[in-house]
Amino acid sequence: MLKRIGHDLKPHYYILTTTAGVFLSLIVTDVRAFSQQSQQFSSSAQVASKSQSTRLPDTRKESASFPWPTAEKPRAWKYIVIHHSATTRGSVESIHQDHRRRKDATGNNWLGIGYHFVIGNGHGMKDGSIDSTFRWKQQIHGAHSGSVPHNGFGIGICLIGNFENTAPTPKQTAAVTRLLRLLSVHYKLKREQVLGHKRIKPTACPGRLFPMRQIMDDAFPNSSQAKGVRSDSFRTSRSTHGS
Ligand SMILES: [Zn+2]
Repeated sequence: MLKRIGHDLKPHYYILTTTAGVFLSLIVTDVRAFSQQSQQFSSSAQVASKSQSTRLPDTRKESASFPWPTAEKPRAWKYIVIHHSATTRGSVESIHQDHRRRKDATGNNWLGIGYHFVIGNGHGMKDGSIDSTFRWKQQIHGAHSGSVPHNGFGIGICLIGNFENTAPTPKQTAAVTRLLRLLSVHYKLKREQVLGHKRIKPTACPGRLFPMRQIMDDAFPNSSQAKGVRSDSFRTSRSTHGS
């Protein structure tokens, strides 16, 4: 009886395994075709994204961890204000020493460097390096714009150089673009919230040779603001810089 059942089952088993084999090979063929399609898709997507960002490092990879961490709770930033130092050389430390000698409207000494970030030009600080200051680390107000709301809730970025006379170095341009991208992602700031100092008060800062439009286009490639629209107007300038 058992032998007979075993004998009877053999053809069924054969049919079953053959059917399963056909099914399996169909599935494998489908999966291969699908993975080929997705490979083609992802490689064309890579080509597209490469062609859009050949000039700059991909900051999306960095966005998980912000390179300039803070010990404090983030301040409710509303603006980013861009400055030049109006000097040929400088560093966080040299500006810190200079600003500590300044007094505010009430006659009190400044706490120290008024900016949150400084970008070097190779003279006093490495070309293109980005240093955060104590104001960034402690998430406190700045002293850089000559305007209460922009000092209170504006991230002050200073590039070393006098951009009335010379343009920023290529490394500085790449660095400020990268910093704007990262800040805008982490603090949810839009293109419209990034201002050259001259937008806030009558000053030449950050200088006529500072390529504001190019930097903004590169930092905010998906901005609704059409390319070619000047985002930084030039006002009458009386001083090269003012805080
Ligand atoms: Zn300025």
